[in-house]
Amino acid sequence: MPSSPRLQGKTALITGASRGIGRAVAERFAAEGADVVITHIRDHSISETFIQNLINISHSAGFPGRHLAFEADVADPAAAGATLQRVVAHFGRLDCLINNAGIQAPTPGDDWDDATFARIIDVTLMGAARMSRAALRHFQSRPGGGNIINTSSVHEIIPKPGFLAYSMAKGGLGNLTRTLALEFAASGIRVNAVAPGAVVTDMNASWAQDPEARARVEAHIPLGYAATPEEIAGVFAFLASQDASYITGQTLHACGGLTLFGEFRTNWAS
Ligand code: NAD
Repeated sequence: MPSSPRLQGKTALITGASRGIGRAVAERFAAEGADVVITHIRDHSISETFIQNLINISHSAGFPGRHLAFEADVADPAAAGATLQRVVAHFGRLDCLINNAGIQAPTPGDDWDDATFARIIDVTLMGAARMSRAALRHFQSRPGGGNIINTSSVHEIIPKPGFLAYSMAKGGLGNLTRTLALEFAASGIRVNAVAPGAVVTDMNASWAQDPEARARVEAHIPLGYAATPEEIAGVFAFLASQDASYITGQTLHACGGLTLFGEFRTNWAS
């Protein structure tokens, strides 16, 4: 943990944060002094205990610890405005939006159904666009600029065969990041993305809990292991902080080297 609290007095909203990467980001932001709002859908593990844990983290770092959690589906067109209103009513302002909610399911290029495809795009890409629109309006309604961080993926740039909708959504998040960064830089608003590779979360339960399958996945990662959500959370804290004050429009790959063309670790051509 850094010695000086970088997010003291900031209010951060993290979508899809009842577990996995979002949850780790919420905990890291609480430890660095932020007031944290998390949203999720249908996650019954969200309870008083979840918020109490965030409060305990804040208190042990010497902060008041004002946190909030509620259900809001980012794919619901009405949810973005309502979520922002609720945050501002509770905390008076929002400083940092983290568009983290994302889902994936197989969508082979020649065999996908419209409903599944649309849901993946709607949650993973359109949800981020709608939440950003609401946050941008708020950021410009008061002094101080603002900060948006999208949870992208190495599949922003590496194709994921069999997962066309997810690849398209993450590719789109890259353009969302760069376009909004350029459009709103003059308003003091920074927009960046964090692109993880393989992270041990429920999304990856199929291989993360199976030692043989996990070893096969990890063999592809130049650093040799799948990340913990906590390793990814620190990158969000950096981008949200003044340490990153001159960074906008960037996707920061936190992927253990996956984007370095690992198959070329040893030369196999001329
Ligand atoms: P996860 O499945 O563990 O958690 C997903 C969270 O999103 C949950 O809190 C869930 O309630 C919430 N959620 C799902 N649909 C939602 C919706 N419509 N509205 C609001 N909340 C919703 O996921 P994770 O592995 O922590 O992934 C989080 C983000 O990181 C996703 O955008 C994912 O694409 C991205 N990512 C994950 C990995 C990885 O290896 N786990 C790698 C790269 C990128």
